[in-house]
Amino acid sequence: MSGPRPVVLSGPSGAGKSTLMKKLMKDHEGIFGFSVSHTTRNPRPGEEDGKGLNTLPMLLGAALLPVAAVFSSEDMIELSTSLSCPNLSETTDQDYHYTTVEAMLEKIDNGEFIENAEFSGNMYGTSKAAIEDVRAQNIICILDVDIQGVNRIKETDLNPIYISIQPPSMEILEKRLRDRQTETEESLEKRLEAARIDMELSMEPGIFDVVIINDDLERAYEELKVILSAEIQKVEEANKSGPRPVVLSGPSGAGKSTLMKKLMKDHEGIFGFSVSHTTRNPRPGEEDGKDYHYTTREAMQEKIDNGEFIENAEFSGNMYGTSKAAIEDVRAQNIICILDVDIQGVNRIKETDLNPIYISIQPPSMEILETRLRDRQTETEESLEKRLEAARIDMELSMEPGVFDVVIINDDLERAYEELKVILSAEIQKVEVANKSKSGARPVVLKDQEAIVGSSVSPQQVNRSPVPDPVSHLAKIQLFLLNDLQ
Ligand code: ADP
Ligand code: 5GP
Repeated sequence: MSGPRPVVLSGPSGAGKSTLMKKLMKDHEGIFGFSVSHTTRNPRPGEEDGKGLNTLPMLLGAALLPVAAVFSSEDMIELSTSLSCPNLSETTDQDYHYTTVEAMLEKIDNGEFIENAEFSGNMYGTSKAAIEDVRAQNIICILDVDIQGVNRIKETDLNPIYISIQPPSMEILEKRLRDRQTETEESLEKRLEAARIDMELSMEPGIFDVVIINDDLERAYEELKVILSAEIQKVEEANKSGPRPVVLSGPSGAGKSTLMKKLMKDHEGIFGFSVSHTTRNPRPGEEDGKDYHYTTREAMQEKIDNGEFIENAEFSGNMYGTSKAAIEDVRAQNIICILDVDIQGVNRIKETDLNPIYISIQPPSMEILETRLRDRQTETEESLEKRLEAARIDMELSMEPGVFDVVIINDDLERAYEELKVILSAEIQKVEVANKSKSGARPVVLKDQEAIVGSSVSPQQVNRSPVPDPVSHLAKIQLFLLNDLQ
């Protein structure tokens, strides 16, 4: 997969990984996404379960299965639990998917994990879905794993930047861990023992690209930013070209229009629909120029021959197609362009440089699809049969790996809608941020207090240490460039 390189943050428990990572994510909206790991340990006070749907750059690790993987009933239960989250806009980060040993072992046996390890009496692991959900958005995926995880990831083709965060000394680490007040004496001892091993192994040449000594939080943060600057720049450049378009596909009657209309209604000024051309007749309530450009075969063929279409296809006895102008009209506004195309359209678009997010909306079953299509009362018996036949082919092709980034089963509309919003959250955020700056709204400024939540460094300490100039600072930092980064 192309896109920015992922980042592995490792180092002893209490070294400051989460603090640095959260600061990085807060300061760089829409640039980073956290690969939400699974763990069997209990949540600490204030920690969020990865089931939450609101954190913009972070997607559901277990619930959203990319590339033709579909939602299991367990995921659905997880997801429906999360939907009862009282105030979505107020919860912030997701720390882990908290799970049981049994559930985690089952997923590991199913090959769902890229790595997993025992740490301090608990299981931890990174699911493939957790990584893919972030990478599908073309943002920098951050993984927080222990040294065992680092070694496992080295056996994969992930190719991340390996960064170790180390405390200045064992004494300071112990003090930070004690001050964090999250561990029992027994767990603390285990963590200190693991830390000794980690500190020793991390210094061996070739394990990490960079080792950052986190003595002063602001300085360590600046070092981290310098190391990641090339990747950050990559994402910023990509973001400048505007939000990625979205291709919604799936059988007729699966619920694409319903979901899309809801999305557009709830997010004014964020989405624009690429109005296709079709030779079919308008349905009651449909408007020319809004739902489709209704046209004749002859007129449409002429435009196709003139090279005015990005793709076109025959579907159920009619012609459908996306004109270049339809896409450009939306993209010129720097909003998210939604395309509703059939599977043939998906394949044609893959040959272009549009680079959209590919989402398939699927019905729970053929029977339910048929009921919905009949209830919609828009089709003749003949057209219905044709659509059901096309649906069979679509359902089969859509499940092939690599065709779609995500497949959503639209059984419960609200749930499917929430899933869709999560998948699109990074792009929505991009447009919101751009709109905010257009309207002259002040950017969000982090208070020192917020920036150091969860760290053992006092606000005074942070206030006292000025943010160093990253370039001149580079010469001074305790940074061991063990490997060439690029
Ligand atoms: P598409 O755009 O994919 O052809 P529609 O959005 O028109 O599909 O949906 C087909 C019909 O099914 C519509 O009448 C719609 O109201 C209904 N529908 C959509 N999603 C659901 C759902 N989750 N549960 C029940 N009915 C649904
Ligand atoms: P409907 O007639 O129900 O509006 O659409 C029928 C099918 O045509 C749907 O699967 C829809 O995704 C697809 N479709 C709509 N517009 C286009 C288009 O521009 N190109 C392609 N390839 N398919 C389209």
